Amino acid sequence: MSKISMETIISLCKRRGFIFQGSELYGGLQGIYDFGPLGVELKNNLKQAWWRDIVHARDDVEGLDSSILTHKQTLKQSGHVDTFSDPMVDCRSCKQRMRADHIKDKKCMFCGSTDLTEPRDFNLMFETHYGPIQSDEHVAYLRPETAQGIFTNFKNVMDATSRKLPFGIAQIGKAFRNEITPRNFIFRVREFEQMELEFFVHPSQDDNWHQYWVKNRLDWWVNQGIHPDHLKLEEQKGDELSHYSKATTDILYEFPHGFEELEGIANRTDYDLGSHTKQQSELNITANVKENAASTQRLAIKSPQDPQPLVPYVIEPSAGLERGVLAILVDAYQEETLDDGQKRVFLKIKPALAPIKAAVIPLAKNKAEIVELAQSIKQKLQKIGLGRIKYEDTGNIGKAYRRHDEIGTPICITVDFESIESSEPSVTIRYRDSREQKRILIEDLINQFGQLIGLNN
Ligand code: ATP
Repeated sequence: MSKISMETIISLCKRRGFIFQGSELYGGLQGIYDFGPLGVELKNNLKQAWWRDIVHARDDVEGLDSSILTHKQTLKQSGHVDTFSDPMVDCRSCKQRMRADHIKDKKCMFCGSTDLTEPRDFNLMFETHYGPIQSDEHVAYLRPETAQGIFTNFKNVMDATSRKLPFGIAQIGKAFRNEITPRNFIFRVREFEQMELEFFVHPSQDDNWHQYWVKNRLDWWVNQGIHPDHLKLEEQKGDELSHYSKATTDILYEFPHGFEELEGIANRTDYDLGSHTKQQSELNITANVKENAASTQRLAIKSPQDPQPLVPYVIEPSAGLERGVLAILVDAYQEETLDDGQKRVFLKIKPALAPIKAAVIPLAKNKAEIVELAQSIKQKLQKIGLGRIKYEDTGNIGKAYRRHDEIGTPICITVDFESIESSEPSVTIRYRDSREQKRILIEDLINQFGQLIGLNN
């Protein structure tokens, strides 16, 4: 188990403005969370890191942003309408509902009673209607995964970009699942974001590419600052595999409630494209697909070694953004006891992910020259474009340091009397992790800012 409790993280998130309960004002909606001023920065930084590494840094991946509302035929063909469900049981004693596969010893997880109903399937999709008529014909779903938007746009993207195998399509966006028992803060929620890549490969190359992506994604999480000892790989066993998967490897993180899935890397074979394509019978599809697609497109690709167009296999690394944010926060959380016996909390978060890159603090709030200089430094650093810089004039300097330690700001910059009096103006910078302080010329601070906060490492 991780050494830090979920309560500690939840309290920090609320107090400092990372994450709030959704609809808290009206008693809250279970399994729904809102991201506050710092949470939205952290989340955006994590998304940007993923997009930069998965899309921009590669020459074999295109990006996409498909819609959330999804045609019911898409989710019928994908298998979600019929099989995207979890087994649910009711407790006859306390009337709570729970996932049958989450309970131990056939005991209610709320009251411990053994008087439970038989498990029955509960479909996790949120259903809605489009247009003014609430009939079956107008049913649409909030997507339960971003992946289907990629499969249904496969031909559009291919035609527009002239891609050859192997290539991928990446997407970050909201997904919705009506989880039976949302729990563990933002770990299992009903509205969340996924960072998904569908990487299309020749069927003969699927295992190699699967292994490649498992390693790539594990390394990526380590590169985001997560300690390798807190991550492990787990192969999903037969009955755990989704209906579309030939093999899935999960990357587990040691959350406060134990090792659990952070990301899954699945070999979805030709199941999805095969299920959505027209002329299914003319193509050599290997998966046990949903037949009779009413599709208008042929989702196949020509490859030099095959006489006929083929339906590619797809390797899917799929990560949950909320789970990523939680893992980053838990892993970064540090406590230490200072010489004077006081406890110091700091978030040792990778500078690229830090919600605020630096705080600029005027030592005297009533001295106009100091205030003006501090504000102008803030503006200059902001213009560099590396992320949010905070002008910080609340509380005393000690409080400002404590606040910024706790939210992971890599450096604090203090503007004092010496800064305005000297002919070579300088400021003090204080590092979050070491608490070391040093004097630096303002000119050097501006010129070397990225390096100073550890962004170029
Ligand atoms: P679990 O077994 O935990 O329910 P899953 O195997 O159903 O997850 P996938 O369908 O593989 O999850 O989804 C890919 C990723 O999306 C997961 O690795 C996870 O990070 C994220 N995810 C899935 N469901 C949720 C949820 N309810 N809340 C937050 N993130 C989720």
